[in-house]
Amino acid sequence: MKKYENNCSRRNFLKTAGVVGAGSMLSSMGGSSAASAALTARTTADIAVPKRPFGKTGEQVAVLSLGGMFDIPNNQLLLRQAVRWGATYWDTAHSYGGGRSENGIGKYFAKFPQDRRKIFLVSKSGAWTVGGMTRHLNKSLERMQTDYIDLFFVHGISGIDEMDDDVKRWGEKAKAAGKIRFFGFSTHSNMEACLRDGARLGWIDGIMLTYNYRLMHSDRMRAAVDACVEAGIGLTAMKTQGGGQVMTHTETEMTLAGRFIQKGFTDGQAKMKAVWQNPRIASICSQMPNLSYLSENVAAAVNKTHLGYNDIRLMRKYASETSSDYCAGCTRICEAALPEPVPVGDVMRYLMYSRSYGDPERAKAEFGQMNARVRQRLAAVDYTAAEKQCPQGLNIGLLVAEAIEELA
Ligand code: SF4
Repeated sequence: MKKYENNCSRRNFLKTAGVVGAGSMLSSMGGSSAASAALTARTTADIAVPKRPFGKTGEQVAVLSLGGMFDIPNNQLLLRQAVRWGATYWDTAHSYGGGRSENGIGKYFAKFPQDRRKIFLVSKSGAWTVGGMTRHLNKSLERMQTDYIDLFFVHGISGIDEMDDDVKRWGEKAKAAGKIRFFGFSTHSNMEACLRDGARLGWIDGIMLTYNYRLMHSDRMRAAVDACVEAGIGLTAMKTQGGGQVMTHTETEMTLAGRFIQKGFTDGQAKMKAVWQNPRIASICSQMPNLSYLSENVAAAVNKTHLGYNDIRLMRKYASETSSDYCAGCTRICEAALPEPVPVGDVMRYLMYSRSYGDPERAKAEFGQMNARVRQRLAAVDYTAAEKQCPQGLNIGLLVAEAIEELA
């Protein structure tokens, strides 16, 4: 299979596909689509991101969630436009931007207090202790200038042991105090097991998980999502573009992009549609750091074109061709195979932030926050056993070495 090495190949493709305008390509390639052009031709008043029920909470949430990892204090207009278009599910965390994300939301609510009731507000704590979560929650409320957070997540769990009885009691107390309305967790490691086991707990209201066209078709993932739906847990998908740690472009990807352009939207929008076509996913959280991204994603959310069987088949083919470029978050496999603790999944994710999201600063910041001793040991570890076990066939040792080179 021929791999396209760089964006020049994409430009050649665009020419041969007869798509000449720089603004004709997708959000993940940096551009806009016919669906987006149609959006700008409409009046703001008739644009409304659809809503879906969020588990058994009784809430209807926007299917598009505004990810809060951008410079919110200096992008207040974007929040205003998000409200106008109905992107009223906002996602942040105590850690995002060292507090700037929550402070930016607080700045907005101070100016437009009437909008607070329109927003389904989510924040998270990665404190890992109940005392730490209390401190984080109180700080989040103060920063965002609000009395309550709609949904509060324990941030980034990799196994259900982290949601123990102490955490359950903490959530109940925070609800009773009126500080949070709903409680749950986010996960980008071992998602299927976290969902399956979370569904058994009986007290989880919502889960945010890595979920995309690469991961959604496995029997394990289908069963895990089914279990959550049966338990009345609302599900929010993140990392829906399925970007990997290795940047490659294949013939199939080019075919996919051309196919979707014919339908009037980009392959980035199509990847979101693939997720929305599962009605069991309530919302997609997407980083939209500027109005172009917001309008692209709103356009995708309001566009009613469905992906057909062949669209999905091609996406699956592309996913299969590039599986060794993508870390699937199954850290229970690789990390257990190593002679000492190494957060392989985290390192792969930081590389993804840098290479696929084009956000090296965030990648470097998170890499720098790793336990110092573990970080210093990264280069000395022999990753051969983990590579043998990796179902995606990732060259883990090489990627860790590249992460050290690029992010340290
Ligand atoms: S490196 Fe491989 S085994 Fe480890 S989490 Fe990623 S895909 Fe799974």
